[in-house]
Amino acid sequence: MSEVLIKGGRVIDPESGFDETADVLVADGRVQAIESRPGAIPSSGGLKVIDAEGCIVSPGLIDIHVHFREPDPIHRETIASGSASAINGGFTSVCCMPNTRPPLDHAAMIEFVLHKADLAKGARVFPVGCATKQRQGETVADIGTMARAGAVAFTDDGDPVADAGVLSRVLKTIKATGKCFMQHCQEPTLTRGAVMNAGPLAIKLGLTGWPAIAEEIMIERDIRINRGIGCTYHAQHLSSGDSAAIIRKARAENLPVTGEVTPHHLLLTEDACEGYNTMAKMNPPLRTRRDIDLLKEAVADGTITVLGTDHAPHPAESKDTDFAAASFGIVGLDCALALYIKALIADGVLDWPRMLAMMTINPARIVGLDALGLGSLRTGGIADITVIDPDLPWTIDVNEFASAGRNCPFDGLSVTGRSIATIVGGEIRGMRALDRAAV
Ligand SMILES: [Zn+2]
Repeated sequence: MSEVLIKGGRVIDPESGFDETADVLVADGRVQAIESRPGAIPSSGGLKVIDAEGCIVSPGLIDIHVHFREPDPIHRETIASGSASAINGGFTSVCCMPNTRPPLDHAAMIEFVLHKADLAKGARVFPVGCATKQRQGETVADIGTMARAGAVAFTDDGDPVADAGVLSRVLKTIKATGKCFMQHCQEPTLTRGAVMNAGPLAIKLGLTGWPAIAEEIMIERDIRINRGIGCTYHAQHLSSGDSAAIIRKARAENLPVTGEVTPHHLLLTEDACEGYNTMAKMNPPLRTRRDIDLLKEAVADGTITVLGTDHAPHPAESKDTDFAAASFGIVGLDCALALYIKALIADGVLDWPRMLAMMTINPARIVGLDALGLGSLRTGGIADITVIDPDLPWTIDVNEFASAGRNCPFDGLSVTGRSIATIVGGEIRGMRALDRAAV
């Protein structure tokens, strides 16, 4: 395996608080040295040099909410294309959701994902197992055996675990494994037939509205159910600003509750659905300016600690149809970093160290990847590294995505900031602007 020298970048490790201009030497899959004195590491021999001047050198980005679809007879995304998309976007580790067909609800399916990910040689892929058998919400899945096979968390994402009794059993079973439960927070009796945020725009468009309380009451209920159980509980893709207030209160009581946001819920409102734009059809739906403001406030004050993508590729035909019939969701991995820069750094909500914490060590801790040595950047540690040019201007073009999905409402948007190198276990798996590098 070749040696790599990442030279002259701003090295940020949110876990240790390190933030200095330094050279990083990588060999044998590990970080061999982080040296602040310029030229202290000689760039001779067979060393591959990445010129990182003006760039940020971060622990590899981690996204704990992606859909890679495989196996599935309809979807085109695969574990290979999805993990290539992750690398293209600067992500070195992702957690894939179990709502495949068949779903990831037993150990053999977990092993299948790990095997496919191994062959793909893209980002590391950590499977999340179903919370209930066949995602039916009725019988607790074989959580113990899936955990032993390598599942890092459990969820029925795409659907909630709606039944309170089942949820209670799910949380107790997961708690015994030490893993995390991720809830898709949606009270289903309030969202029958719903396709966009409930309100005047839904009425004007003649579409069935999806109220924010469908999310809020499920989080509130789950926190109550989990109070005596104490399982690690993660609320996925928050869309309602008032959900954040519920999580803030729970965290103030030291309950094991975390929350996640996605780029689209920070950048777009329900207005994007005007003209029956199916690219703006999301689950949970895009909401209002007030919700965006409250979610950003919750990111700024540390209530929400994880940035995800909910990367959800769909075949073109499932978006190229009536709004009511179209699929929910968008692809995210190829462009999420630039969108987060736009939503959070350009807007002054976060600085780089705090934003990177929400994309590295914070998500790593929730699913136990920190115990594997992921989510941080330190001498002797695993060399999963993302080099980011924070000033690189580019235009989002879905045709350049490594994902098989093209469904993205940000197509054509001018953005700033991009990963220029993605290194997994010391191996450069993604490299952009090769003229920056000299061998
Ligand atoms: Zn979901």
